[in-house]
Amino acid sequence: MAKHKPADKIQDIQYFGEYGGVNPSIADSSTFTYLEGKTMEEVFGGEREGCYLYSRHMNPSTGYLAEAIASMENTEAAQVAASGMGAISSVLMQICEAGDHIVSSRTIYGGTYAFMKNFLPKFNIETSFVNTTRLEEIEAAIKPNTKLIYCETMSNPLLEVSDLAAISKIAKKHDLKFVVDNTFTPLIFSPNEMGADVVIHSLTKFINGASDTVAGVICSTREFVHELIDVNQGASMLLGPTLDALRANNILKNLRTLHIRMKQHSANADYLARQFKALGLTVFYPGLEEHPQHQLMKETMNTEFGFGGMVMVDAGSIEKANQLMELMQNANIGYLAVSLGFYKTLFSAPGASTSSEIPLEEQKEMGLSNGMVRMSVGLDNDISRTFETIKDCMKTTNVI
Ligand SMILES: *Cc1c(COP(=O)(O)O)cnc(C)c1O
Repeated sequence: MAKHKPADKIQDIQYFGEYGGVNPSIADSSTFTYLEGKTMEEVFGGEREGCYLYSRHMNPSTGYLAEAIASMENTEAAQVAASGMGAISSVLMQICEAGDHIVSSRTIYGGTYAFMKNFLPKFNIETSFVNTTRLEEIEAAIKPNTKLIYCETMSNPLLEVSDLAAISKIAKKHDLKFVVDNTFTPLIFSPNEMGADVVIHSLTKFINGASDTVAGVICSTREFVHELIDVNQGASMLLGPTLDALRANNILKNLRTLHIRMKQHSANADYLARQFKALGLTVFYPGLEEHPQHQLMKETMNTEFGFGGMVMVDAGSIEKANQLMELMQNANIGYLAVSLGFYKTLFSAPGASTSSEIPLEEQKEMGLSNGMVRMSVGLDNDISRTFETIKDCMKTTNVI
């Protein structure tokens, strides 16, 4: 469990607005004035820091959000991005050069997988995909030109949990950067305290929690964040995945309720997972004692936030999965939609949608049947009522 208390960091956020407002003022400007030409010269030359120049580089509103999330993740600094992929691609392009090699988990977000598999080879950066829950596979894949190890704390879509502390030891032994995507488990895990060098989130999901915007964040050392926004060398600066100040301000406001939401998402997901199991269905949920990494998670998580809001349940076939999801949507259980972390339950069939980048053969190997339904369980006040309705939908579609 983390030594620092991530939810206390949210409690401690305090920014005053320009007129003493209880919310920070929004810096609604792309560019910033200078009283003297000389000062601007010094900022460009890198001799002077802490001045705002242009919002692709730094902006007070994106800065507030970055600072709040860095504090939550207990890293020195952070840089926000216009999407989770903007954060991920910037980090990988910053650390790797042509000729380098990445060792990555193979059960990662589809977009990240596609970026590593299809896009990075254009720059002669190759990736070996391994099962990061097997430490020996990671060690075996490391080559002289390996630069980094990449994984998700809880992987999409099978909800496998990687042993971050153990992987970090391997990374340190081989002098590699360890990059962790913590999107599924904000507050639940504190990867920085388990040895991750860079912690990434898609803010689009639980952290913003409103399904109204796309955004991302990179949390790391002050030195790495400076590298990212370096005017001449920085991926965040030069690739330009810049988050707008208005959106950054909205996300900061939503961050304040993250701890309450995570507890409710987890409690509801745990309830549904146990009920599905009692119906005899195949269920993946790390809170269930039979989940392969249940014990590991129990020992390393920040327990008060539960085992997360994601549940996978096998409907038997893609046809049944589709029927069930359509019926659940009509019954107002939630939405047949990708993404996660919304107040309503979102469901999709990862075999056919979010993980479609992963070849069928590989999906089978991963234990991913095409009848799998992924649920991002919502904030329902009465989850037992929700379950009864889902059960009816399951009966109608012959899932049970
Ligand atoms: C959604 C997601 C991403 C990508 O984030 P965007 O904000 O959609 O660009 C990356 N990693 C994980 C685990 C995700 O769920």
